[in-house]
Amino acid sequence: MGKPTGFQEFNRELPSKVPAAERVKNYKEFVNLYTDEKLNQQSARCMNCGIPFCHSGCPLGNIIPEFNDAVYRKNWEEAYHILSSTNNFPEFTGRICPAPCESACVLGINKPPVAIEEIEKHIIEIAYQKNLVKPAAPLVKTGKKVAVVGSGPAGLAAAAQLIKAGHAVTVYERDDKPGGLLRYGIPDFKLEKWVVERRIAVMEKDGVVFKCNSEVGVNVSAEELVRGNDAVVLAGGSTIPRNLSIPGRELKGIHFAMDFLKQQNKRVSSIDVDAEDILATGKDVVVIGGGDTGSDCVGTSNRQGAKSIKQFEVMFQPPEQRTKHMPWPTYPMILKTTSSHEEGVERFWGIDTKEFLGDENGNLRALKVVDVTWEQDVMGRPIKLNVVEGSEREIPCQRVFLAMGFVHPQHVGMIKQLGVELDERKNVKAKEGVYRTNVSKVFTAGDMRRGQSLVVWAISEGRETARKVDEFLMGHSVLESKDSVNQFEQVF
Ligand SMILES: Cc1cc2nc3c(=O)[nH]c(=O)nc-3n(C[C@H](O)[C@H](O)[C@H](O)COP(=O)(O)OP(=O)(O)OC[C@H]3O[C@@H](n4cnc5c(N)ncnc54)[C@H](O)[C@@H]3O)c2cc1C
Ligand code: SF4
Repeated sequence: MGKPTGFQEFNRELPSKVPAAERVKNYKEFVNLYTDEKLNQQSARCMNCGIPFCHSGCPLGNIIPEFNDAVYRKNWEEAYHILSSTNNFPEFTGRICPAPCESACVLGINKPPVAIEEIEKHIIEIAYQKNLVKPAAPLVKTGKKVAVVGSGPAGLAAAAQLIKAGHAVTVYERDDKPGGLLRYGIPDFKLEKWVVERRIAVMEKDGVVFKCNSEVGVNVSAEELVRGNDAVVLAGGSTIPRNLSIPGRELKGIHFAMDFLKQQNKRVSSIDVDAEDILATGKDVVVIGGGDTGSDCVGTSNRQGAKSIKQFEVMFQPPEQRTKHMPWPTYPMILKTTSSHEEGVERFWGIDTKEFLGDENGNLRALKVVDVTWEQDVMGRPIKLNVVEGSEREIPCQRVFLAMGFVHPQHVGMIKQLGVELDERKNVKAKEGVYRTNVSKVFTAGDMRRGQSLVVWAISEGRETARKVDEFLMGHSVLESKDSVNQFEQVF
């Protein structure tokens, strides 16, 4: 613990943001950095609580009190080594993680929690500035070859760990650039793409080979990939979006969120958009889906100059505070107002879309919607939807973005060719902690295995899968597991 009285002396403060009216003029990140003094004060709020629940709140098991202490002492090398021992990519999680660790912070019981995510971002940015982020592959190689399919956070984490274990690693990516949803999905205003490219460059220096425009199961044979490698990790994500199959779905102006967001990522990076432009400019926009992807559509629509933006969610409005059903230290499903919401949107809950209405040219002109209420069980979970009688009405709009989540990975191509077994949710089947499919030598990680999730979980799965692959290839693994992180107590 840096300062025993820090949590009493300093309040939680987050870095300032560029005001909403300014930041919507471009796609740049808008969260500023702390001053040195503020960073020092925020790390001093960590109170050495004895049982740091934040460890278990973080899916990576980040060793948070220890890195807070090192930050307080301004020992950047130590802080970076502690953080990077559990997290390959703090520059991603430090920007876009929903920070379940902060929900589990003991100080959070009666005060605002430690600003863990921001501290994490500062450690890694300082580490890059000080040239501490260096290739980590050993000189002695194992002679084993591993193919990783998919270059999202799960595939990248698996590759980064496998190269550390001395294996030769090739990542196959069907897109023209590596990064998965970090590259094509998450908007630049949340994560600028130089951040992804900077990490890919480190991995390339480490010896990871990236083969883009290579879709396994299409222009790269899945069987040959398995035959030509000692192990294969499938990390293709959960890419099939949930549709809204109601009358009028064929009208012009209705798009899946990812088609819209990916195009904008490309424009920002000056990459050709090889499809008809999907733009919100000058349109009345409705985003269907109240989650993070929907919020990203709101932020992007504002930047494109939409005339109006509404966001619809069929579920009821979540509570603003924890309820008895979501006690500390669990991650609470409370009302979340994102930075995109702050930039301007009308949000609606308990609203269901029944029909898309078009004009004589087949263009979307309105939605037919109804209000709904939910019956809940004793735990507050929704069990039955009731339509409010007489609530049917039309909402004029010319653009709809469907942001209702993803149902499962793409089966056509690689998955079918390999014949990997699927679970009941149609994700690739492999138990957490095992990560091995029914096909010999083939492992799986990230959204492809666990279903649509978070970057921090994808990194965690990539790391754990790499360890299982290493064990499979070498009989034992040299890689750290979540459970072996306490080794740092011996090192520092
Ligand atoms: C719009 C949006 C915003 C999000 N925002 C956040 C956020 O703010 N914070 C957060 O924590 N999470 C967020 N998420 C979720 C997060 O991005 C995912 O959980 C995470 O990226 C999953 O990582 P992954 O590596 O499993 O898969 P992905 O990131 O989906 O990467 C899979 C990669 O595999 C490639 N691939 C698939 N099949 C093949 C094949 N056959 N051959 C070659 N390549 C293939 C794909 O092209 C893709 O690049 C967001 C998701 C979306 C859609
Ligand atoms: S990765 Fe996410 S959950 Fe883990 S310490 Fe960082 S912000 Fe918290």
